Amino acid sequence: NRADVALYAAKRSGRNRANQHEGEAGRGRELARAISSGELVVHFQPVVDLQAVGAVGMGRDAITAAEALVRWEHPTRGTVPPLQFILYAESRAIILDLGQHVLRAACAAAATWPVGPAGRRSVAVNVSARELCDRGYARRVAEALDEAGLPPTALVIEVTESSTETDDPQLTRSLHEVRELGAHVAVDDFGTGYSSLSRLASLPVDVLKIDRSFVQPLGSGPRSTTIVSAITGLGTALGLTVVAEGIETAAQADVLRGLGCARGQGYFFGRPVPADAFAASLHGPGAGPSRAALDALGAG
Ligand code: C2E
Ligand code: MG
Ligand code: MG
Ligand code: MG
Repeated sequence: NRADVALYAAKRSGRNRANQHEGEAGRGRELARAISSGELVVHFQPVVDLQAVGAVGMGRDAITAAEALVRWEHPTRGTVPPLQFILYAESRAIILDLGQHVLRAACAAAATWPVGPAGRRSVAVNVSARELCDRGYARRVAEALDEAGLPPTALVIEVTESSTETDDPQLTRSLHEVRELGAHVAVDDFGTGYSSLSRLASLPVDVLKIDRSFVQPLGSGPRSTTIVSAITGLGTALGLTVVAEGIETAAQADVLRGLGCARGQGYFFGRPVPADAFAASLHGPGAGPSRAALDALGAG
């Protein structure tokens, strides 16, 4: 229609392009400043043991991990969600600084969390292809772990399928290096990429995260249950820990539990919250660490 034509013409105009470039340079500077001034904060969303959550209620005992999710606390724009600046950062080297900032904050937070009944709670950090294609990636991971005093086994690196659609061999190399350190790798948003199964066959992974687009229709018809059942079975048979994302209702959680899905994440269990609020929730109501967990720590 006419509005589209006008927009198209505007986009093609040189004047518009020049403005856009100026805008982008400004955005890059603003993002760099945001990192150094502490405006980029990391929130944490709980990941629960779906099989334990029924037995112990929604208390801290069911929380086995958390995902670190970055937010920009902008002085005038308020809290800016990651999808509004991550894509831009990924097209620039600034993603390396941003990623390192999030990684350090996530490791530092996780090092303070109390050990749960199933052992130490792990932290999952999202990482972009551009970071993994950098030869120094695994070394920076090792540095962040060291600095925080966090055991490598408590760190999960989340990589989306679509971000692995590159032929740079360094990406897979970095994932192998991260695993050699003892950390784990998760394939995020599973099922939404163009070649989910071939990715799964070729990537060195430990965790499979079922995209929320498969989880949300659960309970509204048999097809979605069949698909999630198949993904869960595939992941489990491959020896992976399967995490269902985007659980918003008790009904969805029940279906997933029935399908034998190991872990769940979503607003139903908890929204992403600042580091101090998340840590406080781990000290909230619950039965406390089990004998086995205390023994594993050598805590008498
Ligand atoms: P993701 O890694 O798949 O993270 C899950 C997203 O789903 C988060 O959105 C989370 O807030 C949201 N979510 C969780 N539970 C529910 C639910 O029950 N219902 C719905 N509707 N949404 C739910 P968020 O925080 O806006 O992050 C969006 C994406 O941005 C992430 O998707 C991830 O791909 C990316 N991202 C976030 N932080 C970072 C980061 O530090 N580095 C990089 N490279 N990417 C990041
Ligand atoms: Mg993720
Ligand atoms: Mg995801
Ligand atoms: Mg996603």
